[in-house]
Amino acid sequence: QGEVDFKEEAKFAQNLKKGEAVSDFAKSKTLSQQRQYLPIFSVREELLQVVRENQVVVVVGETGSGKTTQLTQYLHEDGYTISGIVGCTQPRRVAAMSVAKRVSEELETELGDEVGYAIRFEDVTGPNTVIKYMTDGVLLKETLKDSDLEKYRVVVMDEAHERSLSTDVLFGILKKVVARRRDFKLIVTSATLNAQKFSNFFGSVPIFRIPGRTFPVKTLYSKTPCEDYVEAAVKQAMTIHITSDPGDILIFMTGQDEIEATCYALAERMESLKSSNKEVPKLLILPIYSQLPADLQAKIFQKAEDGARKCIVATNIAETSLTVDGIFYVIDTGYGKIKVYNPCMGMDALQVFPVSRAAADQRAGRAGRTGPGTCYRLYTESAYLNEMLPSPVPEIQRTNLGNVVLLLKSLKIDNLLDFDFMDPPPQEIILNSMYQLWVLGALNNVGNLTDLGWNMVEFPLDPPLAKMLLMGEQLGCINEVLTVVSMLSVPSVFFRPKDRVEESDAAREKFFVPESDHLTLLNVYQQWKANQYRGDWCNDHFLHVKGLRKAREVRSQLLDILKTLKIALTSCGPDWDVVRKAICSAYFHNAARLKGVGELYSRLCSLSRVNLDDKRVHAMCNVGGAPMAGRAGSHVFLGKGFGYVNVGA
Ligand code: ADP
Ligand code: MG
Repeated sequence: QGEVDFKEEAKFAQNLKKGEAVSDFAKSKTLSQQRQYLPIFSVREELLQVVRENQVVVVVGETGSGKTTQLTQYLHEDGYTISGIVGCTQPRRVAAMSVAKRVSEELETELGDEVGYAIRFEDVTGPNTVIKYMTDGVLLKETLKDSDLEKYRVVVMDEAHERSLSTDVLFGILKKVVARRRDFKLIVTSATLNAQKFSNFFGSVPIFRIPGRTFPVKTLYSKTPCEDYVEAAVKQAMTIHITSDPGDILIFMTGQDEIEATCYALAERMESLKSSNKEVPKLLILPIYSQLPADLQAKIFQKAEDGARKCIVATNIAETSLTVDGIFYVIDTGYGKIKVYNPCMGMDALQVFPVSRAAADQRAGRAGRTGPGTCYRLYTESAYLNEMLPSPVPEIQRTNLGNVVLLLKSLKIDNLLDFDFMDPPPQEIILNSMYQLWVLGALNNVGNLTDLGWNMVEFPLDPPLAKMLLMGEQLGCINEVLTVVSMLSVPSVFFRPKDRVEESDAAREKFFVPESDHLTLLNVYQQWKANQYRGDWCNDHFLHVKGLRKAREVRSQLLDILKTLKIALTSCGPDWDVVRKAICSAYFHNAARLKGVGELYSRLCSLSRVNLDDKRVHAMCNVGGAPMAGRAGSHVFLGKGFGYVNVGA
């Protein structure tokens, strides 16, 4: 339970194909009845009227009121799709996919037909698509090709309160589109009350409030700060399960590792209760995080069988992006992972931080959707009042802006400090990002895009990866670099089941290329290819076949872009030294030297050329990525399955 294994994955994929795994929510009420039950339905007419009369509208409504799934359909029903399509942006990939699937079911069409979605490296839309869900990053990229977004009649910028980087940049860009195109409509939705800010930004546009339908939530605080919140959450969940009335549980954790640990511990406790012959109802343990395969994600929406209780263990994705009905108990650790720019490492890193009060309140609110609920906060009331920020810091003010700078430059916005940001990023971060782009050779001395920079814009990749790819051209090894970049763009392909750790580590060791983890990935891919891309071969070697297939897909999409740029595919054959050169060209600013065998790395601060022959120079990192395997003590497992070296620590 809670553990993802191959057989389970395969079974699910099959079920999905047979169409069995669609939500059984539908069994009790028809989908159209469910639609009419949503709070937004009672104000449908007024809402459409306000949209008809205004070019920009801000819509505020509690999570679960139907903004994401219904608004687009209402616009479709009101005729907007006769002369264009309705686009709806999401800050999260999972939300874009899951919501598009739901809406296609409600409209009774195939996903990808009338209703589709697009996320990076995956476009499930077609010529008939009139409702398109997509990540905000995808729409942002589209503005490069079509600055007026001609094909869109309406854009719904959903989850604006999340203030994701791309959403914030889109605000500035769409404001211009609104001014240029009188036939274009923009709807900005937000789950929280700070909508006034959005309204002001677009010139005091109307705010439409969807009446809420929520129940009171009792909030209980921990008396003392808790030391191990995974353990505390597991304990709390078990107590609820054994002693409290029916109702599903939602636990907020920070990331995949913790979620897996929690699910594992819960399953263990349930197991030991069973073996001591205690009578306890079934507990359905369901993880959800962004890297979980989509079919397993869909499981959270299924109804538990009679008498069983669901326990969903989630990242902050369940805060506002996804709504599951039937939650009566929320367990909030008070922490979440956010991306922050670490100037010492020169890159973004995911770090665990206390969430804001606004986020904590959102989390609590999830317990009061179906009836009065309870929220257990695993932190003290004083921490809530005195230590948490009132609201989250927008991403644009805390992450690397390399991609944003590149994009704005290519939109001919020369002076970035002039761009119409709702909350401008600190000048220091802009300058730092420009410096990094200059170092990579994407900007020239006066801050304009170079030819290399123009080419880098074409790729849906972070600047260093785009640089690596294009260096592959110069060094005659683009075929190999393409594979490395693709492998770095998917979740870790190494499969490491808890009960077969040694066996799987030994299997991984066989692919190991001492010079570089990136080459190890290249080796894995090439061997998979040599084995006809077979699935059983992956299983035998403890590799995630889905991850590898995804990498193959990404690879072919990047290849298409290379073709449009008229860049020919070159290969260096078995001489992989030049591949390392390409990797270095992208990450040399992250170079570090191993202090000694089994010891830490120290960062090489000078930007002078890295000596490739120095066997101690290693860490050509990307986010969460650096040397792995075989160097105990110098790394922990994280993210992409790479070891992560705390450079400079
Ligand atoms: P909002 O955007 O206002 O938070 P949504 O439109 O996302 O609200 O959700 C409306 C309703 O649709 C919720 O009750 C939610 O449970 C349901 N819903 C959304 N996605 C799915 C799905 N994939 N499967 C089943 N129900 C879903
Ligand atoms: Mg929503």
